[in-house]
Amino acid sequence: ELASRMAERAVDVIKLLMKQGQMMKITDVIDSDTAQLIAEELGHTVKRVAESDVEEGLYETDYDDSETETRPPVVTIMGHVDHGKTSLLDAVRKTDVVRGEAGGITQHIGAYQVRSPLGGLITFIDTPGHAAFSSMRARGAKVTDIVVLVVAADDGVKPQTIEAISHAKAAEVPLIVAINKIDKPGADPQRVRTELLQHDIQVESMGGETLEFEVSALKGTGLKELLEGIQLQAELLDLRADPEASAEGTVIEAKLDRGRGPVATVLIQRGTLYNGEIVVAGAEWGRVRALISDDGESQRDAPPSTPVEILGFNGTPEAGDRLAVVESEARAREIVDYRARVKRERLAARAAGQRASMAELMRERQEGSARKDYALVLKGDVQGSVEAITAALEKIGNEEVSARILHAGVGAITESDVTLAQATGALIIGFNVRAHKEAREAADQAGVNVRYYNIIYDLVDDVRESMSSLLPPNL
Ligand code: GDP
Repeated sequence: ELASRMAERAVDVIKLLMKQGQMMKITDVIDSDTAQLIAEELGHTVKRVAESDVEEGLYETDYDDSETETRPPVVTIMGHVDHGKTSLLDAVRKTDVVRGEAGGITQHIGAYQVRSPLGGLITFIDTPGHAAFSSMRARGAKVTDIVVLVVAADDGVKPQTIEAISHAKAAEVPLIVAINKIDKPGADPQRVRTELLQHDIQVESMGGETLEFEVSALKGTGLKELLEGIQLQAELLDLRADPEASAEGTVIEAKLDRGRGPVATVLIQRGTLYNGEIVVAGAEWGRVRALISDDGESQRDAPPSTPVEILGFNGTPEAGDRLAVVESEARAREIVDYRARVKRERLAARAAGQRASMAELMRERQEGSARKDYALVLKGDVQGSVEAITAALEKIGNEEVSARILHAGVGAITESDVTLAQATGALIIGFNVRAHKEAREAADQAGVNVRYYNIIYDLVDDVRESMSSLLPPNL
């Protein structure tokens, strides 16, 4: 990467590193001092940039939206599998008075907008389920203003219903309950209401504050009321955004399209995005070549709460990546490079961290902590014997030392068992099984001890004996 930035050959950079006694591969990471040295050696001028300068000003953190304009709510539909999330999304989409019944080419872009019977726009995230919702939230992206919780009237509250409630609560997003499938003979909406009570959801008809609507996604019943309810809830939330600001948003979906290149569906959350602007999202950037709305129309711009497909990215960003507009290509490159570097460093640090903790584990074992572990990897011919041996070994421990079975399984001893034993200083035990040839060689090389038994009594006795050898001599 350094070579290509300097427009030099990678071999020349590697040669210079070797001259300084650093044997490096093309994928190795070098520190900034070394990089500077190499760059200067090759006749380049180095300008060091403070890390914190790079991302600064990209997102406006403390803005005052109170003076700005109302924006449409962004809604995610959640609920138990088969309770009708997809059907409801489809049915809502068909109510759209903007596009009429014909609907035109309705392509799936990850989100769409409809007009409520009261006149306001509502944005629906078209990926039902809380996996999408929570994975975005885990990445710090808050895209949902209102959760519509779908509960099938013939099935009631189910595990994923409860999960959805927890997710919405954790995100502090208000819920609206849609009791679906009321057309079905076995429908019992009242039961749904009572069951919801047990999970701290008190709907309006039970004296609570949570809006509830009986609907049938199949027949289209109650959809008008549901959409009105969403708009009313949105008005209570007083959602606002400044359309004049430079655009910020979140990637909802992204894919590599054969004909069109990288395509990202982005929910614009603040400001207005214009065709031709330069954007960064995660580790990718691009100049907006086209903005395409959910009905396939090319747009000149995208105001707050609009979902829009962006063409023109150089690579495919990831769902949950935040999008921002920047002033120049150079700036976009700088940010993207910086992020790539931070990511690499984080990965390297994590790998080093793992090594450190593993080293600590070994040191602890050698220096002797209060209670010693006798680490074992156990492989046996059948599940029954593995279980019997595990139980027997767990019994022979005492205050000072105990057997710790890191892994127990059925089958021959493999290289992966050896790696585990090597990393943890464990002994490998084979009961009525042997080691693969590769595993045997690996064990020899790594100095991992492998012992074979075909009588449980012998095995346990041996382990007991070697465990006692771990104890201090005065005991
Ligand atoms: P999801 O897994 O939550 O997305 O559920 P789907 O939308 O795929 O629906 C699951 C099943 O329930 C499908 O067979 C739908 O046709 C059916 N279904 C959905 N909504 C209704 C409804 O209002 N009434 C009836 N009778 N069936 C429905």
